[in-house]
Amino acid sequence: MKTRITELLGIEHPIVQGGMQWVGLAELASAVSNGGGLGIVTGLTQPTPKDLLTEIERCQSMTDKPFGVNLTILPTIKPVPYDDYAQAIVDSGVKIVETAGRNPEPYLAMFKEAGIKVIHKCTSIRHALKAEKIGCDAVSVDGFECAGHPGEDDVTNLILLPLAARRLKIPFLASGGLGDGRGLAAALAMGADGINMGTRFMVTKEAPIHDNVKQRMIEATELDTALIYRSFRNTARVFKNSVAEQVVEIESRPGEVKFEDIQPLVQGVKGRELFDGGDLDKGIWSAGMIVGLIDDNPSCEELITRIVAEAEDIISNRLRGMISQ
Ligand code: NAD
Repeated sequence: MKTRITELLGIEHPIVQGGMQWVGLAELASAVSNGGGLGIVTGLTQPTPKDLLTEIERCQSMTDKPFGVNLTILPTIKPVPYDDYAQAIVDSGVKIVETAGRNPEPYLAMFKEAGIKVIHKCTSIRHALKAEKIGCDAVSVDGFECAGHPGEDDVTNLILLPLAARRLKIPFLASGGLGDGRGLAAALAMGADGINMGTRFMVTKEAPIHDNVKQRMIEATELDTALIYRSFRNTARVFKNSVAEQVVEIESRPGEVKFEDIQPLVQGVKGRELFDGGDLDKGIWSAGMIVGLIDDNPSCEELITRIVAEAEDIISNRLRGMISQ
């Protein structure tokens, strides 16, 4: 497939791996890139900017294909030296960045000067238009189905993607609820130039997380996610385990909830322990509604090849058949 995204990023298939905290290590990013998509190393998963530089070098040694780095700017428990992470990305020589959370404008000039293409992840059309205006090369349009932070508007991709197609000039990826060939074909039909998948790539052989987590996601249905942090306007969609249910319960109590009331339950380090040790109730982990459509644990290459083949079959046989005589 050839789309504006494959052309812009220099990749074979219009499939990008989303930045995922604790999951976007060199193993996964290089496997996605070697499979013809675009892998993404997650910046803040590395404890320091220097560690990020080392992780990027590790990824460079594992693939000669393009890959990117995610820089997420959202509330954190400990302050993050974003400027230093951005500088590490520039110093690494990587040519693609996925920004998310807040407006990436403060870093655009330095990224552009270094010849870096910037894909900004947006959960609303107004943010996508703003990203286009300030000079981002592409956006990733993140529907309410997505894992992690879907924003506060609760608009699904069936509305967001056609709106993006009507209003944006720059290429865009569909993100949220994508994980199979039907999704890819539908996203392209709605005007997207490719898809961004996070949760689906968590259940692959190369994803660096415990098999218990992968198995639980295979068993899950589309009802197995929960929305937390709604009361802080920092909504996150996570897997509905006992900890997520506890957080939802605390947030629903009458009166004002303070972040400190839930902090011990949600801190990212617990999520990391969960991914490493496989104790499914150790903390919380991000997961999108697509868990309802995941039923195997393929390699990244197998997954990408299958999705593209399914989409091509839908486009050239099912859809074409509907309009031919
Ligand atoms: P962390 O341990 O610092 O915080 C845990 C969670 O609590 C995060 O989701 C964070 O946004 C939230 N949080 C922290 N302080 C808050 C506050 N004062 N009010 C409301 N919410 C607050 O975070 P981490 O797990 O180490 O993750 C690092 C960064 O990556 C965070 O900014 C996190 O939001 C982000 N992240 C993004 C996604 C995504 O979907 N893009 C997924 C996972 C993590």
